[in-house]
Amino acid sequence: MRALVTRLNRPVVAIVAVTILAAGLRFVHLSHPDGYVFDEVYYPKAACILLGWSDETCTIDPGDEHYWREKKWDVGSWVHPPLGKWEIAMGIKAFGMNEFGWRVSSAVAGTAVVLLTAVMAQLLFGSAIWTALAGLLMAVENLNVVKRHRRPRPMKDASRMGQTQIQPGGVFDLAAAVDVSNVMVVCPACNRATRVGYEFRESKGRTEKVRVCRRADCHEVLDR
Ligand SMILES: [Zn+2]
Repeated sequence: MRALVTRLNRPVVAIVAVTILAAGLRFVHLSHPDGYVFDEVYYPKAACILLGWSDETCTIDPGDEHYWREKKWDVGSWVHPPLGKWEIAMGIKAFGMNEFGWRVSSAVAGTAVVLLTAVMAQLLFGSAIWTALAGLLMAVENLNVVKRHRRPRPMKDASRMGQTQIQPGGVFDLAAAVDVSNVMVVCPACNRATRVGYEFRESKGRTEKVRVCRRADCHEVLDR
């Protein structure tokens, strides 16, 4: 056991592990949800235009979007610089004008960020544990995004800015910890994730309430 821990406590193991976790979280079911999500109505179409593909393939509307294609080589996001659109275009070039194609570059970049963060932590601290932790935090960032209602509040140091001195209130999307209730218990007897049931069992002449595995063919006590 000690030998195993020593073998796993290496920077390269930490870096590879967090990178695999990050890649899994980013690439699995990448094509879901179907269709354009939020500003995907702009950037994939712009990327498709950069590739020189047809209005039909790029799903350009015949009306105003075609007008902007003629004028600006874009459908509405020409105010943004082109590098990111070229990156999206690479994915579309490789995998086609579909959900996977226009998202794969983001998944690659997001995974690379985790890899580079882990490498940077290793260079800074020289410790596999800190490397794993830094990579882990980056890998699971924004896994659980929650809505928070916030009232307007004064901004710090606003007396040195040319703006009104209030941070506007509203509904904000914030990253939060994943609630423990989203995790299932793994039964020590049958080694499967299970819901928790309660039963009364006789133990040393007393009746005790115990937690049991809810799997039909198991029903073993969970805590021993
Ligand atoms: Zn079980």
